[in-house]
Amino acid sequence: MEIKKLKLTFCGGTGVVTGSNFLLETIPATPGETVRRVLVDCGLTQSTKLADDLNWNPFPYDPKTIDALFVTHAHIDHVGRIPKLIADGFQGKIYSTPPTKDIARFMLDDTASILGHDKEHDLGAIYTKEIINKAFSLWETIEYHKPFDLSPFTVTLKDAGHILGSSMIEFLYNGKKIVFTGDLGNSPSPLLKDTEPITDADYLIMESVYGDRNHEDRAERKILLEHAIQDNVKRKGALVTPTFSLERSQELLYEIDTLVEEGRIPLVPIFFDSPLAIHLTTVFKKYPEYFNDVVQKRIRSGDDIFLFPGLTSTLDTDQSKMIPRMPNPKVIIAGSGMSNGGRIIHHEKSYLPDPQSTILLTGYQSLGTLGRLIQEGSKTVRIEGETIPVKAHVVMIGGYSGHKDSDALVNFVENTADTVKRIYVVMGEPASSLFLAQRLRDNLGIDAIVPQQGDSVELPC
Ligand SMILES: [Zn+2]
Repeated sequence: MEIKKLKLTFCGGTGVVTGSNFLLETIPATPGETVRRVLVDCGLTQSTKLADDLNWNPFPYDPKTIDALFVTHAHIDHVGRIPKLIADGFQGKIYSTPPTKDIARFMLDDTASILGHDKEHDLGAIYTKEIINKAFSLWETIEYHKPFDLSPFTVTLKDAGHILGSSMIEFLYNGKKIVFTGDLGNSPSPLLKDTEPITDADYLIMESVYGDRNHEDRAERKILLEHAIQDNVKRKGALVTPTFSLERSQELLYEIDTLVEEGRIPLVPIFFDSPLAIHLTTVFKKYPEYFNDVVQKRIRSGDDIFLFPGLTSTLDTDQSKMIPRMPNPKVIIAGSGMSNGGRIIHHEKSYLPDPQSTILLTGYQSLGTLGRLIQEGSKTVRIEGETIPVKAHVVMIGGYSGHKDSDALVNFVENTADTVKRIYVVMGEPASSLFLAQRLRDNLGIDAIVPQQGDSVELPC
């Protein structure tokens, strides 16, 4: 009997955290047999910029020949290059969970509002309303656990617990299971269900953002948040927190909602100053069945988990501009999460020089961003051409990561250690991916490798 094989190409998301893009193809056993080509994710490669220049290079495959794109989740480093895929001729179908589709609409519109103005790469011709509309006309939804037939593959989505609607994607082919993890959630999450265990994978293509590090104790984080808000109230400052619009904003609202309801923080004005995050919160409200049991129970008891006394959502720019005039103490939640754009910049300009105020960092701050400089204790920073002294208290809460840490990644793999033949460790900085691959080899005796960008491998099936 001849051996069936699949070909897997690492088109993006290797050696870097962002730019997820993988191509899975059947290898014809006989000449003339139809080749099936599917992509997993089509994300932007990002660093200090929303999008690196290399995103505008041609894809290493012809988009016209791709049958389908499966999207693990709606973070822009997983969906941001879809408009280019369409512009370059993709005619296939796009598949994801329903929340991922809804969230992606807001994420892509938001990205278009920024990249659409780029003259250098003529992105105004790619990030258009028409192209984005076309993407969504091709986009169909699949619920978790409903096997989907895309012959010769049977595709099943499982809950990755990373953000609302996030999924791992399982391809069953000739009795072998190939699983793309997408990003793996830092379970337990305040809002989401835990990452589902994978127990029967033959090949695993897994993320490794925190492959070489462990998080702070997550039990601490709600207490640290409570203390940060209380300390700031005592100093009568503004607590300014650069927050990712997707998931982290909703997590924070939920945790503050809990602190307010439990009477653990004094009632202070809290400004939710991110139009994107405000819009995304409406998607979260639409899908209560995607939340964990505790949250579902609270919703059933009548609690609006994203609304509490003192909260003001400032959708309009005019409302946003009023925030500095509101007396302290107060809390300001705004994007972007790494302070490399968005309304947070204005608030940081106002409150970084104020020794009574607090900058609360709850997310990963990548090298070269303003957030990283603040995190590393810079005494001054440059904002919009001005030198701004940093005198505010800088508080960091690490337990808020949306990704599994090194130990949790190893535990995740352990569930399928008996069946897995090889693991490809991707979506991490090289040191992180290499460290995790080494741990998987040493601790679990699994064949784990770190592929290079552009590598193709054959998977015997
Ligand atoms: Zn993600």
